[in-house]
Amino acid sequence: MKSKIWLSSPHMGHKEFEFVKEAFDTNWIAPLGPHVDGFEQDIVNFLDSPVYVAALSSGTAALHLGLILLGVQPGDEVICQSMTFSASANPIAYMGAKPVFVDSEADTWNMSPASLEEAIKDRIAVTSKAPKAIIPVHLYGMPAKMDEIAAVAARYEIPILEDAAEALGSSINGRMCGTMGAISALSFNGNKIITTSGGGALVSASKHNANQARFLATQARDAAPHYQHSHIGYNYRMSNVCAGIGRGQMTVLNDRIAARRANFDLYVQRMASLPGVSFVYEPDGYFCNRWLTTILIDPALSNGITRETLRLAMDKENIESRPLWKPMHLQPVFQGSPYYGDKTSEHLFANGLCLPSGSNLVDKDFDRIFAVVDEVWQLATA
Ligand SMILES: *Cc1c(COP(=O)(O)O)cnc(C)c1O
Repeated sequence: MKSKIWLSSPHMGHKEFEFVKEAFDTNWIAPLGPHVDGFEQDIVNFLDSPVYVAALSSGTAALHLGLILLGVQPGDEVICQSMTFSASANPIAYMGAKPVFVDSEADTWNMSPASLEEAIKDRIAVTSKAPKAIIPVHLYGMPAKMDEIAAVAARYEIPILEDAAEALGSSINGRMCGTMGAISALSFNGNKIITTSGGGALVSASKHNANQARFLATQARDAAPHYQHSHIGYNYRMSNVCAGIGRGQMTVLNDRIAARRANFDLYVQRMASLPGVSFVYEPDGYFCNRWLTTILIDPALSNGITRETLRLAMDKENIESRPLWKPMHLQPVFQGSPYYGDKTSEHLFANGLCLPSGSNLVDKDFDRIFAVVDEVWQLATA
């Protein structure tokens, strides 16, 4: 069996182990410590904006605490991009709140500002109450149309909880993803552009929000010599060992972004002229970290090749590829939730594929990938 080519696997640099060793040498093996503080500062520096960062155990935890800090109550409605990973929407359910799903637009594949406004108007008409928060996502690193989304949100005075889990390093006109919400969430899960093995961060321009996140993430202990609690707490803080990995990864983040963008350019160079294949490009002023390179395959133009044809052919060669995120409004677990849009995400899900995109892919990996691609298209046109 040929070695596995993964969709997106961890890619350590040279410094991670040094930081982890330092954590061991100094016995800082706790969910706090100097690496946690240092990692938070590294992220602030990278985001290059007056924000505060709380390092957490996952991106999902960041979204959950974000909803708490925005005052979401049981029974409230929260608007969420439909086309996303389930972790964007699950925290709404943790709160006993109700998700309302909004479809994507075709330019960035993210939340449609027009469908967002339609959803808000209708929810106010139906429930006499505005939704409590809006969760847009920057899928695969491509920034959502945040200016338009923020304008709609401001009109109805609804705060934005930005899911930037896939978009560290992406930006719009120099403004970084992860700084575009009242509260933003980052992820350092194993498959993301950099990883702490598992981890996340809550980002906010409000120091109070970051401090509250740290407080809630460490079991909400009041200031007292004994254990006293006036709030329900969580065990969501990042450990000093994981933060050590993160500190090392921050030193190579720009290299990782450059490598993933080079992957995208190579795929475009090799595949853009194939009949039926299309890519999603950056709108003017947008910068995408190209966490994953994705394509659409239109079977009407590709001699019947579908995304499944290519996925199965890759799988046979032990190469991992994956359909795009299945929209939340089609997920059994969210059946019956309100949905607004024109089914753009259903078309994307039916025809889209994520290609191997790791920053550690080498030339011979791409040789194997393109051998499959060439064979699939040659067979179809033979
Ligand atoms: C990865 C991811 C998350 C969750 O992050 P974890 O760190 O895995 O909990 C949330 N939203 C999106 C869009 C993601 O891709």
